[in-house]
Amino acid sequence: MPSLQLPTYDDVAAAARRLEGQAHRTPVLRSRTADALLGAQLFFKCENFQRMGAFKFRGAFNALSQFTPAQRKTGVLAFSSGNHAQAIALSARILGMPAAIVMPLDAPAAKLAATRGYGAEVITYDRFTEDRQAISQRLAQERGTTLIPPYDHPDVLAGQGTAAKELFDEVGELDHLFVCLGGGGLLSGSALAARALSPHCKIYGVEPEAGNDGQQSFQRGEIVHIDTPKTIADGAQTQFLGQYTFAIIRRDVDDIVTASDAQLVQTMRFFAERMKMLVEPTGCLGFAGAQHGGVALQGARVGVIISGGNVDLARFAQLVAL
Ligand SMILES: *Cc1c(COP(=O)(O)O)cnc(C)c1O
Repeated sequence: MPSLQLPTYDDVAAAARRLEGQAHRTPVLRSRTADALLGAQLFFKCENFQRMGAFKFRGAFNALSQFTPAQRKTGVLAFSSGNHAQAIALSARILGMPAAIVMPLDAPAAKLAATRGYGAEVITYDRFTEDRQAISQRLAQERGTTLIPPYDHPDVLAGQGTAAKELFDEVGELDHLFVCLGGGGLLSGSALAARALSPHCKIYGVEPEAGNDGQQSFQRGEIVHIDTPKTIADGAQTQFLGQYTFAIIRRDVDDIVTASDAQLVQTMRFFAERMKMLVEPTGCLGFAGAQHGGVALQGARVGVIISGGNVDLARFAQLVAL
C-alpha cells in the first residue's frame, strides 16, 4: 500500500480558521458532582451544543469549503447513519451547493427529518444487507459528485480536531482526554490537537463494548473488520477504522477502552439530571469510558468530549426510564 500523506496539527489550525464565524465555539462545562465521582477535575467540551447538534459540522464544513468551483457546481454526496448527513446537508446549504445523502432505512427519525429539512436529497438503504460504500461510490460516479466520507478523509478529521483544539486553548494542558470512537475522525483529529497543544496528555478512544473493532485493531496493529454491532450508540456502529484515522490513532493514541450500553444509559441520566443536558447515547461514550474504563484518574485534569445531542425525545425517555 502506498504510504498515506497524513494531516498534521497545521491542518487542524487551518480548519479552525475556516470555521471561524461558521461553527459555534461550544462551552466547556464543569460539574462538582462529576469531579467528586472521579476524584478528578473534569472539563466537558460540549459539542452537543454545536450547530446541527454534533461535532460533525466541523469536519463537513472544513471539507466542503475547500471544493473547487467545479466541485461546488455538481455538489457533494455522503453516506452516514446520521450526524454526518446533517453536517454535510447544512454545510452544503451554507455554501450553496447540492447535497445527496445515502442513509440507513432505520436511522433515527429525527436525523432523517433533519437531513431533509436542510434541503438535501435522501437515498435510503438496508444497513444489515447492503453495502453503503459500494452504493455511494456508484452514485458518485454516475452523477459526477464528490464523495465525502464520514471519517476517513484528511479534511474531515482535521476539522473534527478543532473541538479539542478549542478545549486546550480554553483550559490549558490536561493529563487525560477521553474521546468517543466510531470510525476515528474525532479521535484522530483530537490526537493531532493534543499532541501539539498538550504533549503529555494521555488520549483514549472509547467504543461501545459490542463493537470494539477499534480496540482490536489497536491491539493487533491492523484494521479489524466486524459485523454491524448492536448497540444504542448509533453513531459508533462503524465496522472498521479508516486508513488515515487508524494510522494517526496507532501513532498518537494511548489506549482504547469500552463502555456497555447500560453504562451509556447511566451516563445519559447523569448528564440530564446533574448537568441539565440532552446527550445522545454515542455522546456519552467519553464520560462512560472515564468512569468505567479502568484508567486511574485521581487528582488529574481530565478532558471529555461530549460529541452530540441528537436523540429523539421519545427514544431518550424510553432509554432513561429503564
Ligand atoms: C460520528 C459520531 C461519533 C463517532 O465519530 P467518528 O469520527 O466516526 O469516530 C461519535 N459521536 C457522535 C455524536 C457522532 O455523531
